[in-house]
Amino acid sequence: MTDFLKGLNPVQHQAVTTINGPVLVIAGPGSGKTRVLTFRIAYLLAQGIPPHQILALTFTNKAAREMKERIGHVAGPKASQVWAGTFHSLFSRILRIEADQIGYPQDFTIYDTEDSKNLIASIIKEWNLDKEAYPTNGIRNRISSAKSNLLTPKAYEMNAEQMSNDQASRIPQFHKIYTEYVARCRKAGAMDFDDLLLQFFRLLQEKPEIAEKYRKRFTHILVDEFQDTNFLQYGILKKLTLYPGSPRNICAVGDDAQSIYAFRGATIDNILDFEKDFQGLQTFKLEQNYRSTRHIVEAANKVIGYNKRQIRKTIWTDQEEGHRIKMIKAINDTEEGRRVIDAIMELKNRDHLPNHEMAILYRTNAQSRIFEEHLRRHNIPYKIFGGQSFYQRKEVKDLIAYLRTVVNARDEEALKRVINFPKRGIGDSTMQQMAQVAADESITLWEALVKAGGSTRSGKAIAKFIEMMNGFREKTETLNAYDLALWVAKESGLYGEYAADHTIEGISRKENIQALLDGIQEFTESDEEVYTGEVKDKSLASYLQNIALLTDADEGADESDYVSLMSVHAAKGLEFQAVFLVGLEEQLFPSFMSMNSQDEIDEERRLFYVAITRAKMYLWLTFAQSRYRYGQMRYNEPSRFLEEIDTENLEETGGMVQELEAAVAPKARVGGAARPAVQVAASARSFDAASFTPSPAGMIEAGMKVMHLKFGQGDVLMVDGARDNRVATILFSEIDNPERRIMLKFAKLMILE
Ligand code: ATP
Ligand code: MG
Repeated sequence: MTDFLKGLNPVQHQAVTTINGPVLVIAGPGSGKTRVLTFRIAYLLAQGIPPHQILALTFTNKAAREMKERIGHVAGPKASQVWAGTFHSLFSRILRIEADQIGYPQDFTIYDTEDSKNLIASIIKEWNLDKEAYPTNGIRNRISSAKSNLLTPKAYEMNAEQMSNDQASRIPQFHKIYTEYVARCRKAGAMDFDDLLLQFFRLLQEKPEIAEKYRKRFTHILVDEFQDTNFLQYGILKKLTLYPGSPRNICAVGDDAQSIYAFRGATIDNILDFEKDFQGLQTFKLEQNYRSTRHIVEAANKVIGYNKRQIRKTIWTDQEEGHRIKMIKAINDTEEGRRVIDAIMELKNRDHLPNHEMAILYRTNAQSRIFEEHLRRHNIPYKIFGGQSFYQRKEVKDLIAYLRTVVNARDEEALKRVINFPKRGIGDSTMQQMAQVAADESITLWEALVKAGGSTRSGKAIAKFIEMMNGFREKTETLNAYDLALWVAKESGLYGEYAADHTIEGISRKENIQALLDGIQEFTESDEEVYTGEVKDKSLASYLQNIALLTDADEGADESDYVSLMSVHAAKGLEFQAVFLVGLEEQLFPSFMSMNSQDEIDEERRLFYVAITRAKMYLWLTFAQSRYRYGQMRYNEPSRFLEEIDTENLEETGGMVQELEAAVAPKARVGGAARPAVQVAASARSFDAASFTPSPAGMIEAGMKVMHLKFGQGDVLMVDGARDNRVATILFSEIDNPERRIMLKFAKLMILE
């Protein structure tokens, strides 16, 4: 029954089968930590532990699904009943059962980042505070970090250090904003993302009977990526496992060298504290890397060696040395994009790598655009993780806001979004009055609207809106989520509004609404996922909660074979045969925002370490000597991290390694601005103008790569017309307005390939 254990090395085997008492696995990337967790769950099931007693906390829902799938192979259908998911998703499930214990409605709303920001922005506006001194984003982050450190508004006020800090940072009103924000969320029956942790913590803290219930319930707790848990998450773990008579069956796995969420309050101290908090802890060290070939492992070891503060570990591999790491130096970001796609094509053609074995990783989401364009041009399917995701699109948010208002009338951010969309004559000033009434009388915005009514034009419009919403609400009793959503989309006028818009944008909006409805239908029809020990809850409230918690990396992955594009942060825990790590330039990676101290640089280096250790076989590191950023052309120095890799592990491509060494020598690093402007056409792929010989115009065909003396290298997209009138549409990626129509009779073009 436990045959599967054969797939483990001796230390992994021990870590899997030591199921009583606290266990910690601290080990480097690719050493099988996640595998240990997966096998451990299978092992627990094989020992007869009921699946719903196992709580497995993973980094994304996607990771949880994959884990369940793998356990399914060894343990069968029981696997789907294991409580595996993110901290946020699992605890919100519990909160939905217990919300009334801490004064929240059962159908509380989850405010996403945008809702939180909107709410903060309206407080700042209402109070006439200076927007520059109180930037919405900054305030939100500050609130988030206060919550993650268990600083409630009250605790915050008592904390002299925080308060004087705020004075010094010229945001003396912060505490008041925080207090108001929390009060309004409460009034709206809403929890933001941090509340899902904080309120769960409170529940365990303030309600001993509830704490006991869940302590009994979750007899075995497992945590992946433990290095990135914050103070609050760790606090919850302790509440669940440290109490008199506890079996303390907790198994945490992680790697301090891959901690990349310090900015969100994750702290390496958790690992050190774990050792102190859990006496008798059994620690296992895994040292063999099963993921990557030798060149990659060596480079990773070398790079991370530059970080001072870390738990020393060695990672080795018995795999072959593999391919050296390739470096691409591009003239500009467009060329960087093109060369990455060239390499992808080569991997597809020569090595027959499927798309899903390739990933492009970048430091900032904004870098994806150029790669997207090139991939599209080559008809290579790709998928972006993060960035503007489906659920962030306006029309999708509109319909969801309607549904949220139906489920929870107190949900103020949703209500404000839908009250006058489609337009029904309830303007801003009316809404401001309503907000005032709500504030004066300490009632919710919805209640203020209900009271308003009246014979004025806006009064009538409000009454009609209320009537409509109440009508929707009545239907929640009888309709399932899909039927209800369809009804709301039509009756609210939302669907009609988008259907009437025949522009391309309008059409895609309508399609998105349709796609959302399809998603809801799928939810009501499928029986898996949301396992709460009872029958699946198919209500609208349950649906809304599900989608509120989709992490960027989870969004509707279809089965098709695509190249993955994502930020390095989102790539944690994943692996690919080929990885392209792009934009390796000073100021970009390391980020200009994180170059102020050694600690910040170290965190960037850990991020770099995470990135390169995603690769199994092929690793490309690319940088562009110039790129547009914030509307300006900038010249870049190669990233310092490139210099930290031994040349022994790098592929020599046309003397580039030596060149790079010269470029990153310390003296060359100052004064990047003084670099000569790039000679576009002549320098593309070390092209030599003297060797330019035009090819006969008749030979130019679509699909070719050509060189134009002035415009540089281009891709022939299309040729139309005949004989002397043949015109080529060519994409010269190195120039502005890159797409040019060129009369072949007159043009001088040289065929490159
Ligand atoms: P990361 O720190 O990046 O999350 P990890 O330590 O969690 O890495 P895993 O993802 O569990 O590492 O394992 C890396 C790869 O090595 C996976 O493909 C896994 O299946 C494989 N692997 C791990 N252990 C073994 C083993 N004993 N035998 C064969 N393959 C293994
Ligand atoms: Mg892992």
